[in-house]
Amino acid sequence: ALNERLSDVFDRITGRGVLTEADVDTALREVRVALLEADVALPVVKDFIAHARERATGEEVIRSVKPADQVIKIVYDGLVEMLGGEEPVPFNLNASPPVVVLMAGLQGSGKTTTSAKLALRLSKTERKKVLMASLDTRRPAAMEQLATLGQQIEVATLPIVQGQSAVEITRRALQSAKLQGFDVLILDTAGRTTVDEALMAEAAEIASISRPTETLLVADSLTGQDAVRTAKAFHERLPLTGLILTRADGDGRGGAILSMRSVTGLPVKFLGSGEKIDALDVFDARRVAGRILGQGDIVALVEKAAEELDQAKAEKMARKLARGKFDLDDLAGQLEQMKRMGGLQGIMGLLPGVGKLKGQMAAAGVDDRMISRQQAIISSMTKAERAKPEILNASRKRRIAAGAGADVAEINRLLKQHRQMADAVKAMSKGGGKGFAQMARM
Ligand code: GDP
Ligand code: MG
Repeated sequence: ALNERLSDVFDRITGRGVLTEADVDTALREVRVALLEADVALPVVKDFIAHARERATGEEVIRSVKPADQVIKIVYDGLVEMLGGEEPVPFNLNASPPVVVLMAGLQGSGKTTTSAKLALRLSKTERKKVLMASLDTRRPAAMEQLATLGQQIEVATLPIVQGQSAVEITRRALQSAKLQGFDVLILDTAGRTTVDEALMAEAAEIASISRPTETLLVADSLTGQDAVRTAKAFHERLPLTGLILTRADGDGRGGAILSMRSVTGLPVKFLGSGEKIDALDVFDARRVAGRILGQGDIVALVEKAAEELDQAKAEKMARKLARGKFDLDDLAGQLEQMKRMGGLQGIMGLLPGVGKLKGQMAAAGVDDRMISRQQAIISSMTKAERAKPEILNASRKRRIAAGAGADVAEINRLLKQHRQMADAVKAMSKGGGKGFAQMARM
């Protein structure tokens, strides 16, 4: 199993002095094999390993941290990042009602069950008035199945009319939802056992008629590589907005989740975690990363490692600040700290003599959501750009904006803010920044 394999790796590294490049390579070779064994797609594994290597070697290697902890931290961070980051992408109900949710996927993937799970969640926790409609004209039992589930959870289903096509039912469902004032309409489409043209054409037509706010691909996480191929095929034809992976309760490895997310680039919104009607969990990258690594003590170790890393980073930064240097990597480090420590009271408050910087951050209106976006912007830049933001031209800014889901104005604001901070750091180091020098000596 992946987690056993990883703990073997970490055991071997434990107790040695520093994390060398050779250590990193050895560990990552094992991680690579382990991920492949966990059925993570090869290109995904390659990508992951390259990323982890880049992070592990060079600047980020901090000698004061125990090597095993450091590798765990890097692998864990890499997994969280590849799974879409710490903050889940929220389920979008932001449209004028009826908000349409389209469920697509192969037969048996769990569409009907998941439609009902989602309906239950929306009606119970969000207090939405939900209508479900089955568009599965090929299997009469499928419509009955949805109706039965609807009764069970007290959610309305569109009355069954024999002999209508999926497109006709879609129109009728939209009409009913509008006339009867439903907030949300969940469309449960038909599936085949394999992806085929007829299935895709029908799904695409339904999507173009119903203009869904969320188009979710439901996929069985136990089917591994097949699920990944399916996801790709659907993604090419449908405006998918997210994934729901079912049978996560049986997928101890989490490999499919990692592959699907990485191959499609789509956020995983929910995980189906059982046959029961309330077994639907909001996707949490940290939990899945923890599961892939192995639960409990390893995750606790990661947290400990993170704290140690923070401290080592703070010392390193203090030395840098003392020399009057403050680049975008430093800003990224600060943002991470601020988030972890709960906003502006973070590392800025711990370093002596930086009240001024704090004031500037506050004046710039930095809040947690903005912090996440700024982190995304910075991580979309190359290493050279982070070190020397002056080299960013208009076209690179546009690319970065697209990559980070931000706009160019936001990048410019971030750069301006960084310039101000860098100037302040410079001024302070010149003006006898005793605090910095002190920290540097520690
Ligand atoms: P559809 O053909 O895509 O509509 O699939 P169904 O919703 O009919 O589900 C097929 C089977 O998978 C049913 O027996 C479900 O109970 C089961 N199922 C769906 N989701 C999950 C899940 O998250 N975990 C488990 N263990 N079973 C599930
Ligand atoms: Mg079904």
